[in-house]
Amino acid sequence: MVRKHAVLVGPCVRLAVGALGIAFCSSVAAADAFPSKPITLIVPFSAGGPTDVVSRALGQAMSKDLGQSVVVENRLGAGGTVAAAYVARAQPDGYTILIHHNGMATAPALYKKLSYDPLKDFEYIGQVADVPMTMLGRKDLPPTTAAELVKYVKENKDKVTLANAGLGAVSQLCGLLFEEAVGVKMTSIPYQGTGPAMTALLGSQVDLLCDQTTSTLPQISANRVKLYGVTTPARIKALPNTPTLNEGGVKGFSMKVWHGVYAPKGTPPAVTARLTKALQQALKDPVVSKRLDELGAEIVPIDKQTPAGLQAWLKSESVKWQPLLKTMKVEAP
Ligand code: ASP
Repeated sequence: MVRKHAVLVGPCVRLAVGALGIAFCSSVAAADAFPSKPITLIVPFSAGGPTDVVSRALGQAMSKDLGQSVVVENRLGAGGTVAAAYVARAQPDGYTILIHHNGMATAPALYKKLSYDPLKDFEYIGQVADVPMTMLGRKDLPPTTAAELVKYVKENKDKVTLANAGLGAVSQLCGLLFEEAVGVKMTSIPYQGTGPAMTALLGSQVDLLCDQTTSTLPQISANRVKLYGVTTPARIKALPNTPTLNEGGVKGFSMKVWHGVYAPKGTPPAVTARLTKALQQALKDPVVSKRLDELGAEIVPIDKQTPAGLQAWLKSESVKWQPLLKTMKVEAP
C-alpha cells in the first residue's frame, strides 16, 4: 500500500510517497534570504579520508562566498549509501547537501535494495575535482613492483587481504577491477572510510589498499607504505616517476575518482543556482586550488562545475559501470 501525507515546513511542502518523499518549495520564499543559517555538507566517509579532505577544503571556501558556515558532517556506512539516502530524504531547502564520488553511479548495481535513485532523487549542484588512485601495500609486503604484486597475489590468493571503505566505495571498485584484471579473488576487509583503512594498512593488519592520492600522498612521501602504481592511464604530476598499473603489467587498468555536490530533489532552482555559484567561486579560490593540486587532485573545467555537467556525467558513469558491475556478479546485500 502506498501511503501519502503532506507536511508543511517553512517554504517547502513534503509529500511522502512510500519511503521517499517528494518535496515542492516556493522558490521565491526559499531562495530569498538563502543562506540565512549554516549549511551542512554531508560526507559519506570517515574524517581524515580523501572525500573528507576535499570536502573540508571546498566547504571552507564555499562558506566565504555564501557568508555562512558550511559544516562538514560525516555520515558513515554501506559504501556511502547511508549518507546519500539521508540527503535524498532531507528537507529540500539547500541547508543539507551531499558530496559524493563514483559511488553515486555504481550503488544501484551493487545494492539490491537502494532507498534512493541517484538519477531521480537529487538536484545537481556541480562537479568538483578528479583524483587519481594509487595501489598501496603494507610496508613489509614482499613485492616491490606491480608485476611482482600480480605474481604474489596469484601465488597467495587465499591469504592476501584488501582493505576498502565498503561496498560501493572507490577503494572497493579499484580492488574489483584489479581482481578482474589479475583473475584472482582476494579477501576484502571493509572499513567506514579510508581513514581507518589506512590506519589498518600502516599497522600491517591488511596487505593492500587502493585509494585516492588526496590521502595516500602523505603516506607515500613519508615512505610508510609500498607503492605499486597509479590507476590512471597516464602517469601523474604528483608522482612523475611512478609507473601506471597498466605500464606495470595490469593491462588496460584505468580508474579515477570524481566528486559531485547534490541537493535533495525539489530544492528551489534559485537555491541550487546560489550553491553552484558558491561552488564555482570556491574552485577559483587559490587556497583551494593549491591544496588540491598538492594532493594530486585536478579541479574539473568550469562546464562540469554546473548542474547540467554533473547530471550528464553521472548518467554516463551509470551507463558505463552498472552493466560491468552486474557481469562481475558482486554480492549485493
Ligand atoms: N576513498 C574512500 C573510498 O574508497 C572513501 C573515503 O573518502 O574515505 O571510497
